[in-house]
Amino acid sequence: MTTVHAYAAPSADAPLAPSTIERRELGPLDVRIDIKYCGICHSDIHFTRGEWGPQEYPATPGHEIVGVVAEVGADVTRHAVGDRVGVGCMVNSCRDCENCAAGEEQYCLKGSTLTYGSKDRDGTITKGGYSTGVVVVEDFVVKVPEGISLQEAAPLLCAGITTYSPLRHWGAGPGKKVAVVGLGGLGHMAVKLAVAMGAEVTVLSQSLSKKDDGLRLGAKDYFATSDKQTFKTLRNHFDLIINTVSAKIDINALLGTLTLNGTIVNVGAPPEPLEIGVFNLFGNRRSFAGSSIGGIRETQEMLDFCAEHGIGADIELIEGKQINEAWERVLASDVRYRFVIDTATLTA
Ligand code: NAP
Ligand code: ZN
Ligand code: ZN
Repeated sequence: MTTVHAYAAPSADAPLAPSTIERRELGPLDVRIDIKYCGICHSDIHFTRGEWGPQEYPATPGHEIVGVVAEVGADVTRHAVGDRVGVGCMVNSCRDCENCAAGEEQYCLKGSTLTYGSKDRDGTITKGGYSTGVVVVEDFVVKVPEGISLQEAAPLLCAGITTYSPLRHWGAGPGKKVAVVGLGGLGHMAVKLAVAMGAEVTVLSQSLSKKDDGLRLGAKDYFATSDKQTFKTLRNHFDLIINTVSAKIDINALLGTLTLNGTIVNVGAPPEPLEIGVFNLFGNRRSFAGSSIGGIRETQEMLDFCAEHGIGADIELIEGKQINEAWERVLASDVRYRFVIDTATLTA
């Protein structure tokens, strides 16, 4: 076992505090990573605060991990000491089921092992990237291409892949009108990626307070969902909507903005069920869908796409002692547009 520095929540309602955690001995197919940066995803908050169900404490979240390979197991072939690498939301899966065979390990029929809060193969509960080191099996480690800084790459490991995957699956590209709902961590990545894919992008935010940023990121239009006129103006308009909102919102109003055969993909994960009026689906033969992160192969593809298009996340780099304050700002929709922890500061 190796001891690493970390931040951990002692219970669902207590602030995170400096701590240490144990990482397993290096197995033959394992890679030991010195974590340099870890992004803060809203999922870290939902999970740690018990909003998705009871958890084990102390809990260390974090699944937007980037760092440098420090050591490799005897049979590792994909990574070498010194490589710049990343780990996202999963650290393992069965590798055997139909979905794993299709490269969609996030939909593993036996359940993928999540980076934190999951039961690992050895029976321990996984602990995430608000820490200085981690041991992960090589197949679940991706390469961070040259050309993206490590700190701006960190949020790609969740916010990037979670928006890239549905944009690709539902064919965002030239001639397609795409709306992104919520301009937070996922939302700002969705705008950058959809624009790079050639789609015409509109942001739907609670207010117009971030309009300049939305347009700078490449959106063509920006509307406030608090303005009733928005839904009249945009009626039957979009081919695809990516809803990244972390709270329960009015899906029926959004459905009305979809054109013939349009789809709204929900990636936001509020704990409450969303309500859908079936007649809002009947009109224009609309679809309501969900999407969860992306497979390992697609995560690498997304990182390579970002390097090719010069895309990184817009980040605010913080120290360990600022994590609790950063969480408050995420909850207040005051994130521009992803907090990233410099793990060198986790020791204090
Ligand atoms: P975030 O940075 O907090 O962004 C969410 C945005 O939603 C906010 O910035 C805000 O945008 C909007 N919003 C928040 N509360 C709202 C409310 N009450 N009404 C209307 N709009 C509201 O969060 P994130 O890290 O991007 O994550 C977003 C959601 O996706 C979370 O629920 C997270 O758990 C989930 N998620 C899912 C997956 C997946 O695989 N499906 C992966 C990662 C995260 P505006 O200020 O622009 O309105
Ligand atoms: Zn996430
Ligand atoms: Zn599987």
